[in-house]
Amino acid sequence: MHDYRFFREMSMDTQNIASRLSASGIFRTQGLIGGKWSEAYDGNTIKVHNPTTGDVIANVPCMGKRETSDAISSAYDAFSSWSKLTASERSRCLRKWYDLIIAHKEELGQLITLEQGKPFKEALGEVTYGASFIEFYAEEAKRVYGDIIPAPVADRRLFVLKQPVGVVGAITPWNFPLAMITRKVGPALACGCTVVIKPSELTPLTALAAAELSLQAGIPPGVVNVVMGNASDIGDTLLASPQVRKITFTGSTAVGKKLLAGSAATVKKVSLELGGNAPCIVFDDADLDVAVKGSLAAKFRNSGQTCVCANRIIVQEGIYEKFANAFANAVQNLKVGDGFTEGVAQGPLINESAVQKVESFVRDAVSRGAKVMLGGKRHSLGMTFYEPTVISNVNSEMLLSREEVFGPVAPLMRFKTEDEAIQIANDTNAGLAAYIFTTNVQRSWRVSEALEYGLVGVNEGLISTEVAPFGGFKQSGLGREGSKYGIDEYLEIKYVCLGNMDSA
Ligand code: NAP
Repeated sequence: MHDYRFFREMSMDTQNIASRLSASGIFRTQGLIGGKWSEAYDGNTIKVHNPTTGDVIANVPCMGKRETSDAISSAYDAFSSWSKLTASERSRCLRKWYDLIIAHKEELGQLITLEQGKPFKEALGEVTYGASFIEFYAEEAKRVYGDIIPAPVADRRLFVLKQPVGVVGAITPWNFPLAMITRKVGPALACGCTVVIKPSELTPLTALAAAELSLQAGIPPGVVNVVMGNASDIGDTLLASPQVRKITFTGSTAVGKKLLAGSAATVKKVSLELGGNAPCIVFDDADLDVAVKGSLAAKFRNSGQTCVCANRIIVQEGIYEKFANAFANAVQNLKVGDGFTEGVAQGPLINESAVQKVESFVRDAVSRGAKVMLGGKRHSLGMTFYEPTVISNVNSEMLLSREEVFGPVAPLMRFKTEDEAIQIANDTNAGLAAYIFTTNVQRSWRVSEALEYGLVGVNEGLISTEVAPFGGFKQSGLGREGSKYGIDEYLEIKYVCLGNMDSA
């Protein structure tokens, strides 16, 4: 039965999209515990808003400790059977889930634009990207190889087995409501783990739709659970439970540190994908068009709200003026508006506090001598729209270069030598993504090796893919997601020694 509570407090546009989604059967507004859709036990709810219009799209349960404990128990029970399936049985379930996600690409894309605000075309890109992790790990499920080690003693045989770690708590942010979940759940399920997912309260509907499709794919009840609501209650319950053997988190560095510290009491395995402060270095010898196109993509995707967004565009003095003008021209052409409108490249920011953060960073830069070349204020569309902005003469004292702005503001900094560029780029506690634009092959190698970052794009601004490892150095995180390395985060290594092999 469909839940029509969301028809209240909605504009016609949001209502039309929501009712089409409801008819598709993927519009879920309850948590998922042990295969059953569930309200919060005390009946409390939270509102999910469309950031473009401010409409309430749905009321979802505001869950806490009790619901999370039940979700953990369900995942724990399901682990004993799910982990014992053969790899090809699990692989077939994941493949079916992938097929269903792709079959519902349009609806999932609409849901992402509705609750997150990114342009529909970008949302469709996220569905394809998100689904790719399920497909990739459906394949990798069959390649969790162990080892045989030549024994140092003649009558022994030494083996290495890889086994699933157990119940996984997966906590995800709002900026990629689907992909940040599938990047964790794909490898976890592939090797036999079960999961309790906690999506952001700002974007739970995409997570719930994906969970609905997991059930339709035949993934057994209890293998995938979703709870949302009171973040610290849910987090603390996951941390305290000895049954949860792994925490995987994507989000802010501050919350990541809390989860790392909180995992100590039960010594859980932890993977963290945290904040970045990506440098984008444009050398004098760069191809100007390639550098403008690449920096634009690296900075303005998702209105600047990604962890790999170029946060500091560091430009060599010989090309600085030319680059700054060409870049500002390109930024001026970015159409701002409702993500469902054709041609829109920039949606709203996620909420009011995100806009206030951007405003305070811009104020700080201007008060310290930076110059606004373009934008620099709220957009006339109102709500949480902010003008695509370019700021020149930024230096390393300003907040814009010290912290993630997480908005559509491109700060330009100037440098003289390659060594200085590397020094500026590495002068941060973050170490997630970095970008270089140069036509000099030796320089591209030299600088890539010198950058203290987990991902480096050379002459390319969009580099994330399911087949390559994603993760940060320094305080940007622990562990890697995606690729053949990503599944190791969900595996324990067991050494088995068989003795007395020559006794006959
Ligand atoms: P956030 O505030 O840290 O929230 C992330 C998740 O943690 C949300 O589900 C949030 O729940 C939950 N949470 C908050 N406090 C918690 C607590 N005490 N215990 C357990 N869970 C808690 O981050 P965000 O603002 O959503 O996301 C933006 C950040 O994510 C940026 O710093 C960005 O760089 C980073 N990010 C990193 C990557 C990467 O791969 N490295 C990718 C994307 C984003 P509620 O939302 O319900 O409060």
